[in-house]
Amino acid sequence: MINALTPNRPHHAQWMITRKCNYRCRGCNVWKEQDQRELSTEEVKQGLDILKDLGIVELVLSGGDPLLRKDAPEIIEYASNLFVTTVYDNGSMAKKKLEALRNVDFIAISIDSLDEAKNDYIKAVPGAWKKAMEAVETLNSEGINVSVTPTISQLNLYEIVDITNYFTQKGIPVWYCLYSFDQTEDVNQIFRIGKANDEFIIKDKQAMVTLCDSLIEMKKRNSKIFMTTELLKAIRTLFLEGKRTWNCRALQNFLVLDHLGRIAGCHNHKFIGSVFDLPKIWHSDEFDLLRKTYNECTQCAYLCYIFYSLHGSPYGNLMLAKDQWKNAKFLLER
Ligand code: SF4
Ligand code: SF4
Repeated sequence: MINALTPNRPHHAQWMITRKCNYRCRGCNVWKEQDQRELSTEEVKQGLDILKDLGIVELVLSGGDPLLRKDAPEIIEYASNLFVTTVYDNGSMAKKKLEALRNVDFIAISIDSLDEAKNDYIKAVPGAWKKAMEAVETLNSEGINVSVTPTISQLNLYEIVDITNYFTQKGIPVWYCLYSFDQTEDVNQIFRIGKANDEFIIKDKQAMVTLCDSLIEMKKRNSKIFMTTELLKAIRTLFLEGKRTWNCRALQNFLVLDHLGRIAGCHNHKFIGSVFDLPKIWHSDEFDLLRKTYNECTQCAYLCYIFYSLHGSPYGNLMLAKDQWKNAKFLLER
């Protein structure tokens, strides 16, 4: 509880522990720019200790697909003892690494459509849907904390309500990513994730507004929708008026790390050091200057960054507690 409510400490870290991926998603750059290099198990553990000391409460392990690392079970176990830990999987690996996932707080499986052909088109891998659905079923029946995380785009915008109902009626939580692509002017960007793809860009803005309204309403009766009303309202205003109602809090509330332990406020900006230097540089003037720049930055609308800008602070955690007490208690316990 102390960490979640202490000011001037980052709350959330997203660590892309590998740059390897076995999928070919059409809206993603990661698979095109893979790297076989990565930190050793011991180095990752050392980095996790440093993040803990810095005040991180909540950790996301992603990639590429983090479960492709052979030492994923060891890393996950270590991380789960320190943080509220979420592991992302494209749906291909969770069943194979089931034992490693027994103690994570959230395992997020990416499923973008209930229509098998559409999902596999988005992932560009035949059989992706079947594997992901099987993974969700198996993990759920094993009592593992599985969730489903569709990426909202123009391709699935009109079925997000159905996807949400389908899984939450089975007691499986749903939260979302929002398709976004990297538009940064920073040539030293840490790495590229979102690939510009016309098919995915949300053109029917009114439908997005309606979707936010529907989810806000559904949330009143459905505790398995893991999105805050605050976040849905922010997205609604963004699509309705083109107005951002938040300031980005990269390098204040959150930071990202890549597979080599390099850190940045977000993946759209340059490397600013290594996780191993963090204790020294977190309170530096250089970081304070960057925080100010990022605070005014409007270059992206990745949902996770908006979420942690809104909620990854002591005040934000209290708002989260008010909105979703059951989920927030995970944060406040650490
Ligand atoms: S979106 Fe995820 S699963 Fe798909 S290619 Fe990118 S990193 Fe891999
Ligand atoms: S708005 Fe924030 S998260 Fe997005 S590119 Fe700018 S600094 Fe990064």
